[in-house]
Amino acid sequence: MHRLNPFIMLDYNAAVYFPPSTKQRGVGVHPHRGFETVTIAYQGKIEHQDSSGGGGIIEEGEVQWMTAAKGILHKEFHEKKFSAQGGIFQMVQLWVNLPAKYKMSPPKYQAIKDQDMGVYPIGNQGSLVKIISGSYKGVKGPASTFSPVTLCNALLKKGDQTDFEFPSEYVCAAVVIDGSVLINQKEKVAAHHFILFEQDGSTFSVSATEDCILLVLAAEPLHEPIASYGPFVMNTRQEIQEAFEDYNRGAFGYLD
Ligand code: MN
Repeated sequence: MHRLNPFIMLDYNAAVYFPPSTKQRGVGVHPHRGFETVTIAYQGKIEHQDSSGGGGIIEEGEVQWMTAAKGILHKEFHEKKFSAQGGIFQMVQLWVNLPAKYKMSPPKYQAIKDQDMGVYPIGNQGSLVKIISGSYKGVKGPASTFSPVTLCNALLKKGDQTDFEFPSEYVCAAVVIDGSVLINQKEKVAAHHFILFEQDGSTFSVSATEDCILLVLAAEPLHEPIASYGPFVMNTRQEIQEAFEDYNRGAFGYLD
C-alpha cells in the first residue's frame, strides 16, 4: 500500500475453471470510498452494478475503471450465462489510490472495450502492447486518470522483445499473466508471478521465452499519508470515521 502508492491493492485470480452453476458467484453489495477499482478481464465475464447508475458486463479483453471517489455501492458477480455454462475465469482487480484533492469528487465509470485500447505493434509475429491508460512509445490509452498512471498489457510471441521506459521516480511493477518472460536479459519469471521494480532506473526490457501476457503498472508515486479500513482508503483516521458515518446514514446511495 505504501511502497507502490497509488497502487494500493492487486487481487489476481489466476486461471481457474468454474463448473456450471445456477448460483452466480461473486460479491454482494459493498461500499468503496477514496480510490478507484480497475477490473481487467482476461478470461470469463463479470456483471457489475453500482449506486451511481453505472453497470454492465465486463467481457474478455475488456477493462472496467470505476472511480468510487466520495462513495459508491456496487456488486460484482460472474455473468449469468458464464455462470450457467461454466468456464475459465482469470482476472485482475487493481485498486488505484486517488490524490487527496480528488478523494471526495463524484463517482465515475469508464467501460473500456478491447477495440478502444491503444495498440503499439511489435515485430512481425503479431506481438503488441495494448495500452489501457497513460502512454507507451507515444501511443495513448483511453482511460482517464487523476494522477499519471500507465497500465498496459504486453502480448508477446515467443522470441519477441520490447522495452519500457518510465521516469526513474515512478513506482513500477508487473504481473506475468500467461507464459514466461526474461526481464533485463537476466531474470526469468514464470506465469502468475509478480515483479516489483526498484526505483533506481528508467528502463527495463522484456523478452518472451514463451508466448506471454505481461501486465505492466507504472505511476507517479503519491507521497500522501494513508489511512485505510477495508473498503475505505483516505488520508486520516478522522476521514475513515466520516466514511463510516456517511455510509451508515445512506450517503453512498442505494443498491438492491
Ligand atoms: Mn468492490
